[in-house]
Amino acid sequence: MGELGPLVGEPLALDLVNTRARLPDQEFDFLADLAAMRHWLSCEQDLPAHGRLTTVAESHLRSPTRADLEAVRDLRDHAASAIARARRGDPPATRDLRAINDAMRAAPLRRELVRDGEGRPRLSVAHDGPRGTRIAAALAESVAELLADERVETVRNCEADFCILLFLPAHPRRRWCNPAICGNRVRVARFHERRRSRSGQS
Ligand SMILES: [Zn+2]
Repeated sequence: MGELGPLVGEPLALDLVNTRARLPDQEFDFLADLAAMRHWLSCEQDLPAHGRLTTVAESHLRSPTRADLEAVRDLRDHAASAIARARRGDPPATRDLRAINDAMRAAPLRRELVRDGEGRPRLSVAHDGPRGTRIAAALAESVAELLADERVETVRNCEADFCILLFLPAHPRRRWCNPAICGNRVRVARFHERRRSRSGQS
């Protein structure tokens, strides 16, 4: 997949939308197939902030099904559309709302009091429902939370003109999805442009 890996570490809803990425000469889809999705999920699982996904059985995260892939790709389209509207201050379209709600409803979160190995009560939280829909349900919750959060209006597009990635700036001066990739590419391009125009003048 070239030099670019999936950008993770934004709110999970943005990480999902950001599984489509672009460099000036190349497009990426980190949910292109099951192997790609497994890789993306393994990147997400390493992030403590994204514990939400671990409420899906871990074995399931390691071996997503084709139904998962289709459900997650479908959800990604609706999430991208709803987040784009929210950034403009527009309410979500009915079809996007319905898709996000359907995904959550397909595998709702179930809280259950169970006994641990030593017999002590422990609260277990897990998604209930068909195996092929649990990952999409966990992701749909994060999409719903972001859309219901007023900070969604501050979501920004990376400033590199070729880049389509979104981020939620923790700092108002943040300009790039990843300064090491986009910030650097833009700096290098400007440097070459200045050199070209200087040698053109001489
Ligand atoms: Zn970027």
